Amino acid sequence: MRLIPLFSGSSGNCILLEAGGARLLVDAGLPGRTIEAALSSVGVSPQTLTGILVTHEHIDHTRGIGVLSRRFDLPVYANAGTWEGMQADVGPVALRNMRMFETGREFYADKLLIQSFPTPHDARESVGYSFAAEDRRASVMTDIGYVPEALLDAVGKSDLLLIESNHDEEMLKVGPYPYPLKRRILGDQGHLSNENCGKTLCKLYKRGVRCAILGHLSKENNYEQLALETVRSELRCEDIPDDAFQLTVAHRDRITGVFVL
Ligand SMILES: [Zn+2]
Ligand SMILES: [Zn+2]
Repeated sequence: MRLIPLFSGSSGNCILLEAGGARLLVDAGLPGRTIEAALSSVGVSPQTLTGILVTHEHIDHTRGIGVLSRRFDLPVYANAGTWEGMQADVGPVALRNMRMFETGREFYADKLLIQSFPTPHDARESVGYSFAAEDRRASVMTDIGYVPEALLDAVGKSDLLLIESNHDEEMLKVGPYPYPLKRRILGDQGHLSNENCGKTLCKLYKRGVRCAILGHLSKENNYEQLALETVRSELRCEDIPDDAFQLTVAHRDRITGVFVL
């Protein structure tokens, strides 16, 4: 299994995942050409993709979906709520490429098992994903206001987890965003702070998670070093030694690396 965060942040998200004979994009939230260029730099031609999985309809997750699906005849997988929410932005998608799944009901792409789970966020039916193949599991959960127990269960057995570490609460509070937007981000349907990401990883450590990529960082209210240090200090508070938990921060605007599990 290979996971390659191509872009991860509040201005665009796209993750490449390969396993069990499938090669998928999780979200395509940048212009089609930008994603094509990123794919080509890791030696992947878009024609070889199995499809695009969508987490929710926000534009930082959907911007390139229509173009890529039309240009390369790619299937797009989303639940009913997300299809409804994104149709206007995505534009026409060939009927044969409109794949709809029920949230929580697992399905396969080739030999890759895909499980979706609901996430608390201000979208119609937003989800995270867990992928299993070849005895390995990777999960992706971003755009989450808070982390209920069910979410811990959903990703708790992951060998690798890409989790949101969106903002520093102080930076957000004193920053330039208008008050209603600040309230939205800090709310239960908003985004996960560095601190809450750290606390979540402490709980997930007890469930066996040992390796995480911090993603979906805010451009205005966070920076890589701060996210990493805040999460690390939460782990230390729970006596989890640095060498027992591998942390990486996903870059917002370029490829982070190739994670092989
Ligand atoms: Zn987002
Ligand atoms: Zn969102």
